[in-house]
Amino acid sequence: MFALFLSAALLGTEAWQMWHVRDANLRGAKIVTASLAESLSHQVDMTLKTADSVVSTLVQRVEAEGFGPDSLQRLYGLMTSLAAALPAIHEMGLIDEDGNAIVKSLLPHPVGKNYSERDYFRFLSTHDTREVFIGVPVRSKVDGSINVTVSRRVNAPDGRFAGVVVTSVSMDFFRKLFESVQDRSGASINLVMDNGTLLASSPASFGSSELTALLTLPTDATEYVSPDDGVRRVGSYNHLSRYPMVAVVAQDSAIVLREWRGQLIVDSAIMLCVLVLIAVLGYRVDRANRATQLHALRDGLTELANRRCFNETLEREFKRAARSRLPLSLIMVDIDLFKSFNDRYGHPAGDTCLRTISATVQSVLRRPSDLAARYGGEEIAIILPETDVAGAIQIVTDLMLAVRARAIPHEGSAHGIVTVSAGIASCNPARRDADSAQLVEKADAALYAAKALGRNAFTVHAATDTAASVAKRREAA
Ligand code: GH3
Ligand code: MG
Ligand code: MG
Repeated sequence: MFALFLSAALLGTEAWQMWHVRDANLRGAKIVTASLAESLSHQVDMTLKTADSVVSTLVQRVEAEGFGPDSLQRLYGLMTSLAAALPAIHEMGLIDEDGNAIVKSLLPHPVGKNYSERDYFRFLSTHDTREVFIGVPVRSKVDGSINVTVSRRVNAPDGRFAGVVVTSVSMDFFRKLFESVQDRSGASINLVMDNGTLLASSPASFGSSELTALLTLPTDATEYVSPDDGVRRVGSYNHLSRYPMVAVVAQDSAIVLREWRGQLIVDSAIMLCVLVLIAVLGYRVDRANRATQLHALRDGLTELANRRCFNETLEREFKRAARSRLPLSLIMVDIDLFKSFNDRYGHPAGDTCLRTISATVQSVLRRPSDLAARYGGEEIAIILPETDVAGAIQIVTDLMLAVRARAIPHEGSAHGIVTVSAGIASCNPARRDADSAQLVEKADAALYAAKALGRNAFTVHAATDTAASVAKRREAA
């Protein structure tokens, strides 16, 4: 029981500790994804801000210097030197009021390139705004790369729409940035516009359902299960402070918990060993305890129950019989002329004889609840719960036959072999003894009477109900 309690306590402590470590790992990963999302969104924000500053500068320049050939030539020079200094910027350009490219940093002579269908051109040509316009990703008409446009309107001196200055920010630049972060952290990174358009990703884009799950994840939640592939992940997101974009970072829980799992396997193996050890030790201690208990209740010579066990059992069975109103019988058995056996054959032979008779008594008992005990010396008491006189007589008869069958030589006896005498006393529901001691006294008296009959005999105590006495009492009633 103690071993069981100890095992359960150890197992509980270990499980709690491992769960705690798992939780700490996931919370650690959550902090990592959150700080990655924050620093990446900051970088993207700064890059777009730089692109926007370039656009603002160019707009001011064009509005101040006009669209003359010299001014456009200087503008081209400025654009190419800025583009060379800013690796995130793919291209810069000036577009006239009809959507035709006039200056492009990637093309010295941008003839025949019209951008009037682009979302930024359509918006800025129809809205008199000084605000920046961030467009959806578009494919470059020069080299086919995918870029996000940052653009502002150019006004003529009279305030009419005169054109657009546009810079395109390379999504490839962000993808490479994300790749290097992903290589080091193992995290998946996506840059998404508020309208759900994917701008850049590494290694792959999240599915739309997963993205929704991630972007609606409560801030205190560490893990979520992807609705797209069913994988558990730890994720965070951070919105750019100036632009309509969000950086999303997620890591597979399996990767986060890889070390923890290894530790779990090692700890489980150790715990299993400890539990097996506890079980083995517990079993041994339990067996030793049982043996000690058994020892405390057994008679060393005869291996029958001892006097203490007899007293306890009789008390218990007496009360049970009183409660259940079922009969209880007690038989006192005594070896006849045992003193003379000892005198003739010696004490060791007497011991052997006592053991043989004890084993014989044990052999005639039929029910597990029957108990034979060494009452004292060569006297054996038999408790027979739920057994009436007839049953007790049957046991005594069987015993005397079995003892005779043993045929232990005893020259001091008239029978030439060892015999036993017995006294029976029973308590019936109809006629109760006050206590168990009375039952012992009656069985003892019956044994005394059997000895008086000349030994090798048994008697039933006179106050015990036999079938005849019950019938007689019924007749009298
Ligand atoms: P009865 O037929 O009247 O019972 O005669 P008895 O000789 O058997 O009775 P008594 O009480 O005079 O003697 C009992 C003897 O049993 C005395 C004692 O030496 C012997 N005895 C008691 N316990 C043991 C024992 O553990 N081993 C041996 N060898 N003898 C024992
Ligand atoms: Mg005797
Ligand atoms: Mg005796």
